[in-house]
Parts: sequence; structure tokens; C-alpha cells
Amino acid sequence: MSNNKKLYIKTYGCQMNVYDSERMAEALGASGYEQVEAPEGADMILLNTCHIREKAAEKIYSELGRYKGIKAENPDLKIGVAGCVAQAEGEEIMRRQPMVDLVVGPQTYHRLPEMMKQVEAGEKALDTDFPLEDKFEHLPERPLPRRAPSAFLTVQEGCDKFCAFCVVPYTRGAEVSRPPERILREARELVERGVKEINLLGQNVNAYNGGDWTLAQLIWALNDVDGLERIRFTTSHPNDMSDDLIAAHGECEKLMPYLHLPVQSGSDKVLKGMNRQHTAEHYIRLIERIRAARPDILISGDFIVGFPGEEDADFEATMDLIREVNYGQAYSFKYSARPGTPAAERSFVSAEVANARLQQLQALLTKQQRALQEAMVGQEVDVLFEKKGRLAGQMIGKSQHLHAVHVAGPDLQAGDIRRVRVINSETNSLGGELL
Ligand code: SAM
Ligand code: SF4
Repeated sequence: MSNNKKLYIKTYGCQMNVYDSERMAEALGASGYEQVEAPEGADMILLNTCHIREKAAEKIYSELGRYKGIKAENPDLKIGVAGCVAQAEGEEIMRRQPMVDLVVGPQTYHRLPEMMKQVEAGEKALDTDFPLEDKFEHLPERPLPRRAPSAFLTVQEGCDKFCAFCVVPYTRGAEVSRPPERILREARELVERGVKEINLLGQNVNAYNGGDWTLAQLIWALNDVDGLERIRFTTSHPNDMSDDLIAAHGECEKLMPYLHLPVQSGSDKVLKGMNRQHTAEHYIRLIERIRAARPDILISGDFIVGFPGEEDADFEATMDLIREVNYGQAYSFKYSARPGTPAAERSFVSAEVANARLQQLQALLTKQQRALQEAMVGQEVDVLFEKKGRLAGQMIGKSQHLHAVHVAGPDLQAGDIRRVRVINSETNSLGGELL
């Protein structure tokens, strides 16, 4: 076993990758690797990649190119590629970039310690299986040191929905849910280490199906965990917003009033082309039911503009849907073709048109987001403090609605939850005073 080796992990993409990076660092920690903040001086560089964005693989190849100098200075440096680009590219990575020693997919990183032994012996290691065993059962228990007050916890992976633009079903595989008792055990361990808020993660988290447990049942069980104060979950699909989950938003006191529910488009024609399996009307009625259960809930979404076949009228339908829903937070993207997905074969909307639409859509979403933020001024919110702010004596945390809030509070500790009056609204945060 090697001792005191330095591991640098660079994480791309979604929160699930952030969680996976933590677990990979823990797995390699058991083999004597300690995580460092910079690639210089590291013994192992691991890129945990994402395949969602345009030219994702090319960006990884050019990032790898940048490590040539570090590798020249330290020929013993080992380089690994993990995540969805590793899954999609496989062996091709080592062929195109021979200095890569290890390629590991998102479902096999529990095998990293064994793979590192191979790499340390001077061999190459590649594993992009979709194995039968559950990786979480083969990973080390979450380590003992105290953790930041807010933690991610993966409960479900993969996706069976096959939206026409998306690589996730191919890179992450079919939907698999972790058993509830293991999730509850991990949650209790996180709470013992100082965690106050758990964000349940899944590509399609509300399709969670652990034995006969639904996501709502899991949330209710977490609600009973002493010391856990806040529960969140992301990302959901409109078709899996079940009645018990909607009801939980109104009744479960630890479930926060925030819901990320992507719709992608407001045009039924485009939704059909995307294979989203619901209409704009269905989504709007769903939002109404969720707001009836929890009137102050903040709705967040994802949008794609310039999907193949999107005409001006379709784009206008998306703008109308946004006006109707009124989003407090949103992520919007220009469509980019992912090789191997059905939409990649279709004819494109010109870049000029797509850019203009994206600008218009983002202007509307930003206006809504700012207006909802400004409406918080004068209100009282509970803030879970997470870290020091930029100014001396300042602490930053999150409100129930996931707004970043900063206050002057020299005596505050990370993990404190305090009542705060919001006194001003800035671009991406709120200023407040302790009550
Ligand atoms: N499972 C989630 C859902 O159904 O909404 C999200 C998965 S994906 C990781 C996150 C977002 O990336 C999607 O909601 C979509 O807006 C965007 N996205 C995915 N593939 C894309 C593509 N080919 N082009 C542009 N945006 C894309
Ligand atoms: Fe991708 Fe989400 Fe559609 Fe699944 S539901 S294919 S993850 S966009």
C-alpha cells in the first residue's frame, strides 16, 4: 500500500459528479491518497468528466494536453479519466492520449483501489462495465471527520426516459435505485458528522423505486432522523411527480420549499420531438397542484432552445410557459447534438437564431429571478450557514428557498441555523441581519 500520495481531482458537470468525486477520494484515501487542491506536485490526477455539454470529449483531450508539462517534470505522475466521457470514449482515450493510465466509468469506481495497484505497477487500467454488484456496497463507509453542513447523497442513478437529445441513458445506464435502509444509514452517518441538510441526488430522482419505497416515503423516513434539519432532492421529471411527493411538499416540515422541475420547452411539438412524454399543459397543471400544496415553493427549471424543428411559434410557446410559471431559478442551454442520440440525426436550427432565442429567454428568466429575490427584502428567513463570506466577520448560508444570504455574524459557525431579516437584494444573493 502506498502512503501519503497526493491526489488531485478535477470535477466537471452535475452535482452527481461532485458526489462521485467525494466517494472516489474516499475510496483512494483508503489506499493512502490524500486530496490536494492543485495538479502541480500531485502523484495522481483524476478528471471526473461530464458528457452533457458540446465537445465534452474534445475539452477533456485538451485538458489532458495541458498536463504534459507536469508529467514531463514528474514522470511518475499517474493520470486517470473518470465519469461520463470515460464511459462514452473508453479505450479511445488511451489510444488518443497515451499518457492516460486509467479510465473508469461512473458505475465501477468502487474498483479504483484495485485499479490503482495495477497502475502503480506500471500497467494501464480500464473499466467501463455496468456491473451487477452495487458500487455503494463496495465503497468505504463515509469517513469520520466533520463535514460541511450540506451534503449530497445519491439515491438513484441512470435513466430509462431516453429524451431525444440526452446522453445520460447511454453513459449512466438504466435506472437503478439504492435500497432505502442503506440510504438511511448513510444519512445518519452524515448527520453524526455535522451534516444538517441532505440533498438527495438522482438523474431522475423522483422515479426513485427502492423495493416498494417511493421517494416521498424515503423523505418521510429522513424527516424522522434526529439532527437532520433540511431535505432537498434533484433532478425530477414531470411525469414522476407522484401525488405522495406533491403532498409531502405541503406536509413534511423538513422538506424545503424548492423544486427543480425541468420542462425543456413550452411547445407540444418540440416536447414530442424531444420524447418528453408530456405536454406543456400537463406541466402547467402540475405546477398549479404543487403550488396548491406549498404556495411559497420556488420553482426552478431547465430549458433547451434551438432544438431541431423549433420554429418561432414554438419558441414563443416556451416564453409563454415561462411567463405563466414564473421561475425563481433556471438553467438554459442552446441545443447541442450529442453523437448517438436520436436528435443528432435531425436538421439544426441556425446558430444565429438559437443564440438570439437564448438571449431573449435568459433575459426573461433573469428578470423573474431578480423580481422574486427582491420580493424577499423585508421578510424573515431561516438561514443554514455554510462558510465565511468575502468580508471579515461575514457568514454565508442558504435560505429555505435556496437563496444565498450573507450577514455580519462574527460568532456564527458553519452549521448554525438562524432567523434573519432580509435587508437587500444583490445580483446573486441577499443581504440580511440576524434577528
Ligand atoms: N434528468 C434531468 C431532466 O430530465 O431534466 C436532467 C439531466 S441533464 C444532466 C441536465 C440538463 O442538461 C437537461 O435538463 C437539459 O436541459 C440539458 N441538456 C441535456 N442534453 C442536452 C443537449 N444535448 N443540448 C443542450 N442541453 C442539454
Ligand atoms: Fe436525460 Fe433527464 Fe431525459 Fe433522462 S429524463 S434522458 S436524464 S434529460
